[in-house]
Amino acid sequence: MDQDIAVRKALQDVRRGISEAARETGRDPEAVELIAVSKSQPASLAQAALNAGHLHFAENRVQEAQAKWPSLKTAYPDTTLHLIGPLQTNKAAAAVSVFDVIQTLDRDKLAKNLAREMDRQNRRPQIFIQVNTGDEPQKSGVRLKDVDGFIEKCLHEYTLPIVGLMCIPPVNENPALHFALLSKIGKRNSLSNFSMGMSADYQTAVRFGATHVRVGTAIFGSRV
Ligand SMILES: *Cc1c(COP(=O)(O)O)cnc(C)c1O
Repeated sequence: MDQDIAVRKALQDVRRGISEAARETGRDPEAVELIAVSKSQPASLAQAALNAGHLHFAENRVQEAQAKWPSLKTAYPDTTLHLIGPLQTNKAAAAVSVFDVIQTLDRDKLAKNLAREMDRQNRRPQIFIQVNTGDEPQKSGVRLKDVDGFIEKCLHEYTLPIVGLMCIPPVNENPALHFALLSKIGKRNSLSNFSMGMSADYQTAVRFGATHVRVGTAIFGSRV
């Protein structure tokens, strides 16, 4: 099918882009996980990526993931599904049950609820803390002045499985500065996974140490 061919080729192209950027900076391309962002795309496109052997995906809404993924995950049990959109506290239970990785933890009440739900469901998705690297007032993510304390609290008070940090740079700024900042915050807190970079800037993110890049349109085309 045409769709299968197009998605397979796009995945190869993005992987090649990741490898180039990794090699330029002396990094192992295998250390960068390509996450295919299937939000707002039909299940048939996710299926095309699965047919190509791809295993890592992301959605930005809990409800959309609940509708699209349980059947795909039954058919492809090795699939890893990431949440990359804002998470409402009252959806923590659903998020813990449907996602394998939650990248958008950014506040105390949500941390508390996630910890409680993980105990209740006996399921422990990996967690990234989202950092508001631009310190933008209306934006998701932990503010810079709070980030070290929040990481500490999540690890030691809530004993959450925090594995790394995630950021979405401000739209009109050079993303490289934000990628560098995220990596610096991670290093001083002994965190070694960095989810950063999207279709437009994933190569820059890899040069600055991304271990996870979140790529949607460059794989699946524009969203409806
Ligand atoms: C939509 C989205 C992406 C993917 O964006 P593209 O530009 O389509 O690659 C990555 N990260 C987050 C948080 C998103 O919401």
